[in-house]
Amino acid sequence: MNSIAEILTGNLLNQPVKIHGWVYRTRSSGKITFIVLRDSTGIIQCTAKQDELNGEIYDKLKNLTIESSLELTGIVYKDERSSSGYEIKVTDAKIYQRNDSFPITKDKSEEFLLDIRHLWVRSQEFTAMLKIRSNIFHAFSDFFYNEGFYEVQGPMMVSTATEGGSTLFKVPFFDQEAFLTQSSQFYLETMIFSLEKVFTIAPSFRAEKSRTRRHLTEYWHAEGEVAWIGNEEMMSIEERMIDYIVQRCLDENQKEFAILKRDTAPLKLVKSPFPRMKYKDLIKNAQDWGMNLKYMDDLGADEEREITKHFDKPLFVTHYPIELKAFYHRPDPDNPSEILCHDLLAPEGCGEIIGGGERIWELPVLQERMKAMNLDPSAYSWYVDLRKYGSVPHSGFGLGMDRLVWWICGLESIRDAIPFPRTMRRITP
Ligand code: ATP
Ligand code: MG
Repeated sequence: MNSIAEILTGNLLNQPVKIHGWVYRTRSSGKITFIVLRDSTGIIQCTAKQDELNGEIYDKLKNLTIESSLELTGIVYKDERSSSGYEIKVTDAKIYQRNDSFPITKDKSEEFLLDIRHLWVRSQEFTAMLKIRSNIFHAFSDFFYNEGFYEVQGPMMVSTATEGGSTLFKVPFFDQEAFLTQSSQFYLETMIFSLEKVFTIAPSFRAEKSRTRRHLTEYWHAEGEVAWIGNEEMMSIEERMIDYIVQRCLDENQKEFAILKRDTAPLKLVKSPFPRMKYKDLIKNAQDWGMNLKYMDDLGADEEREITKHFDKPLFVTHYPIELKAFYHRPDPDNPSEILCHDLLAPEGCGEIIGGGERIWELPVLQERMKAMNLDPSAYSWYVDLRKYGSVPHSGFGLGMDRLVWWICGLESIRDAIPFPRTMRRITP
């Protein structure tokens, strides 16, 4: 069996080939039928002539419909008129399934395409996104393996919140109540005591009630946790990681970017190091830019979109006021009203793709923060334990992989960056 990509290299010119695929387009003018066939590697025109084929086979080919599945045998020729430069002259065919009609033809409304996502995944655009997404996941893992990290896995069913109770999904768990995890961070923190540098890519679940272009209720969360390093060093690892992933896509996905009509010029500017700005300085700047933001305001999607317009590269926003973030962030010892944390805002209006920072590692500081935030220490007893037995300074991050795909591919919504999006209003297909 040959792949279409292999044929398009030209190495099989004038040779017999056999391909599997689906009908992308078809057109017949009586004695001659043109079938544009697609497989996972590309598309190619195949020409079937009535007087060169067995009559029964020719009739079947003539009547094929979009997305029918088949096997074609033929000879590769040069064809100056076709965009790929090659075509196959068909000598034999085996049809696996002829469709009556394929539902995706005219209606391209967002809701309809989501309803038939199980079929829409085959479109050229979606296939291009899936290939870039696959490469992003691959590059992410490669980066951390190359840096000497270990890949680990935490549980998806948990008993405590990481990011606050309002977005927890409850699940019955025998005679108890459990939750779907919002983040694997706490479990990664346990594993630095054996492995020092760890990462995971796993789903996180958040019952996000808002319908935004950047929230899913189930998303792929890439997280890392590193012993002995602080906020600054954590940010330098992350900026090299983002630089590496973007570069890999630019090197390996030009064809897919072209299908998505993604202008890659902005991606070429994404070179580390990235600018860093304290939250309080960002607020001052935002006011100078005419934005209606004041100290202690949280940055939402709209604010972040506005802010990123002022930067070509991703921007680290650091030192948030302690009240704005979760209890585990380490207060700056020189100024405890601020925490040693960072969000990374992706350019081109995307906004936050990473949240990270230094974790509290001293027991009394953690106890004090939990008390200030009214958290029940018994619910977090094992997490608190980590601060009792050989505790060490450490930092970590969480990256939304679907947000990264959304930004790199230049898509309209995060729902276009994942094959089967889960949102407040959608759990099928
Ligand atoms: P936001 O303010 O956008 O809701 P967050 O502050 O809740 O984000 P974190 O809790 O820091 O996000 O999670 C780490 C990363 O996970 C985020 O930077 C983002 O990339 C991703 N993320 C968080 N919530 C979602 C979601 N609902 N859908 C997709 N990705 C998400
Ligand atoms: Mg959130």
